[in-house]
Amino acid sequence: MCIFCKVANKELPSKIEYEDEKYMAFYDINPKAPIHLLIIPKKHIENLNDIDESDIGIISDMALIAKNLAKKLGIDKSGYRVVINNGPDSGQEVYHIHMHLLGGNFLGSKLF
Ligand code: 5GP
Repeated sequence: MCIFCKVANKELPSKIEYEDEKYMAFYDINPKAPIHLLIIPKKHIENLNDIDESDIGIISDMALIAKNLAKKLGIDKSGYRVVINNGPDSGQEVYHIHMHLLGGNFLGSKLF
């Protein structure tokens, strides 16, 4: 089982900021910004290459969760970044699709 499936199953501890039946948002273990959350579907999907028509809503659901969390954490007005890494050239480390939500200070023009 992959590490984010273990996080979703609570076999691995994480600091959870949001959870519902299908999704979870938890703090990155190695944060690259003052606020660095990872939003995942509980369903195991490796990355965007694995998304098909039946999964299409997952990306918009994750974006909506990101927006709501940005507001909850008070960074909606100051700004934030969402990133999905896909495959080796992106530096994807964990092959369970996740949306990074980064904010809390000026992020500059580098992705992170
Ligand atoms: P990727 O490079 O795959 O887009 O990002 C994976 C992210 O997961 C990295 O920022 C890394 O710090 C984070 N990460 C890796 N293992 C764990 C873990 O066990 N728990 C948490 N909370 N984050 C993790």
